[in-house]
Amino acid sequence: MEILSHRLDQVTQSLKRNHGKGEYHAAALYREIFKAGNLTPFCAEEFKASRALTLALKDRLCINPGEVVETIEDGRLIKFITRLTDGLKIESVIIPMTRHHTLCVSSQVGCRMGCRFCRTAKMGLKRNLSVSEITGQVFNARFNLGFDIKNIVFMGMGEPFDNFENVIQSIRIMNEQKGFDIAQRHMTLSTAGLTRGIRQLARMKLPGIRLAVSINSARDDIRTRLMPVNRTNDLGTLKNVLQAYPLKKRGCFLFEYILIKGLNDSQKDAITLADYIKPLPVRLNLIPYNPVCGFNYQSPDDRDMHRFSDMLTQNGIFVIKRWSKGRSVAAGCGQLGTSGSVEPVMPSA
Ligand code: SF4
Repeated sequence: MEILSHRLDQVTQSLKRNHGKGEYHAAALYREIFKAGNLTPFCAEEFKASRALTLALKDRLCINPGEVVETIEDGRLIKFITRLTDGLKIESVIIPMTRHHTLCVSSQVGCRMGCRFCRTAKMGLKRNLSVSEITGQVFNARFNLGFDIKNIVFMGMGEPFDNFENVIQSIRIMNEQKGFDIAQRHMTLSTAGLTRGIRQLARMKLPGIRLAVSINSARDDIRTRLMPVNRTNDLGTLKNVLQAYPLKKRGCFLFEYILIKGLNDSQKDAITLADYIKPLPVRLNLIPYNPVCGFNYQSPDDRDMHRFSDMLTQNGIFVIKRWSKGRSVAAGCGQLGTSGSVEPVMPSA
């Protein structure tokens, strides 16, 4: 049993079924592993009088968060690279906040969405991450690297809705009070706009999760150029799905707009975007394009950012300008990729 893939109730059921034990030992296992980062949980008091159980679990239980093989720092921001059991590597980024840290997790090795501004897209999709490979990123960030992770954003390598079941199970595990205890309202799922995934998420009982959409243009022709996913999930369909989404009271969507000089930064782009957003409760993050080796797009300068932001604000849109952190370690939006396994590495739907 790979414990990093199991919710507490599943561990309890497994102990009941296989060993005639229950909540008491399951809670101890969960506490030692998820709260204390203890890879030898059987030293805990609860197991001292249960020698047979300990021996059986030593054979059955495995804990494999993957091996952190490299960390790269840029100021307080840290990108870490994890080698998985099959040798493939993934990237995660720890982002400092005022009181704690946010962890940007990967959900796939590579990605098949093909966004034209994204380094991960160049890898293609190698495979989905298993549940333990997703939750293992939290384990490593907390216990091997020592950061107090309180927020999770699924904005690393991969499209989370393309690995839906494993992502949802990992969210439930991260949310366990007796485990990592990360509140749902502190988790954000970011999508390139897969409408089927948004509909599926709407049916799950995860009301606190925040939904982010990588929008990048409100003009179908430009968005399709940037994000091939728009061919089958066009802006009209996306808007309808978002309007039907059961947001919490006073909740809003997060839209991410990567500003690319000369491509999606005109007055027409701003007005079309404002018109698109107006019927929806949206907070817009405006992010300057990060240069990615091999792409011909240009980054906007500060003046371009202010000009575009002002046009949106004048049209009634709430905009937050995100000056991209982490460019020097290729941990900015669109720059995660591959350190090692394919070619240099980040992104984010
Ligand atoms: S931006 Fe996100 S969805 Fe698009 S290719 Fe990159 S990782 Fe995939």
